[in-house]
Amino acid sequence: MRIDLHVHTTASDGTLTPSEAVFHARELGLSAIAVTDHDSCGGVAEALRAGAECGVEVVPGIEISVEWHGEGIHLLGYYVNPDSAAMRTLLQQVIDERTRRNEQIAASMRADGLPVHIAALNARYPGAVVGRPHFAQALVDLGKAQSVSDAFARYLSPGGKYYRKREYIPLSAAFNAVRGAGGKAVIAHPFQYRLPEHALIALTRTLTDAGAVGMECIYTGYSAQQTEYLRALAAGFGLCITGGSDFHGAGKPENRMGEPPVSYELLQILKEV
Ligand code: AMP
Ligand code: ZN
Ligand code: FE
Ligand code: FE
Repeated sequence: MRIDLHVHTTASDGTLTPSEAVFHARELGLSAIAVTDHDSCGGVAEALRAGAECGVEVVPGIEISVEWHGEGIHLLGYYVNPDSAAMRTLLQQVIDERTRRNEQIAASMRADGLPVHIAALNARYPGAVVGRPHFAQALVDLGKAQSVSDAFARYLSPGGKYYRKREYIPLSAAFNAVRGAGGKAVIAHPFQYRLPEHALIALTRTLTDAGAVGMECIYTGYSAQQTEYLRALAAGFGLCITGGSDFHGAGKPENRMGEPPVSYELLQILKEV
């Protein structure tokens, strides 16, 4: 029984709708997937319906970007109740901050004569949390970049002309919201932050003290050695082990749903912590 606990949909920057993502999981023979959109629970209800229809267990989730020593760190929240006051308040805060930043990015593009408007992006991606990936696609459509990753490299990464900083929400606010929404917090893809080892350990300690119950040790591109290292780190802090692909559909073709393999047992353990 294989699962994938890290899947994005059109509710953030994935290219499959929540139903399509669930049907894809069904085709791959996965028994469960977690829908973990960036700063959004907007895909969860549809995914749950599709899952009930085709016999794939859907775990409601979210991936929240939080701030730690100036770094953007990703926190996975599993089994959060999207309708709870705690989650709604947090998500509104994130949307307000993103709106502020999106307006700055669009204005900087318009200053260069590019016809980029927030209202048009919202209309094109209904229900999505609009962010840099959508601006990257706009640059591709306007012939300013070859691909989304080219647009990031040339314009939308720190130092790039259209990059604008986003204020991440404080760690404590994210943990309070996950807890208030009845969820379980898991540290996402620990090697993606490119921290030196002492900082990775400090981060793990801080997040564990704040209430994290697990660590995503199995992840796209992590070697067997890296996964073993993370398993030992997680064990040392009493964290359970999770894993997922960070599937985004066509937007990140190298992240394939269901890979690397994750066993259902890990979900069983997550449910029980
Ligand atoms: P934002 O939250 O608006 O700052 O956008 C961040 C998202 O953009 C990440 O979650 C990734 O999915 C995507 N992203 C970041 N860097 C790249 C890149 N170099 N190529 C493609 N997508 C990227
Ligand atoms: Zn993403
Ligand atoms: Fe992430
Ligand atoms: Fe992700």
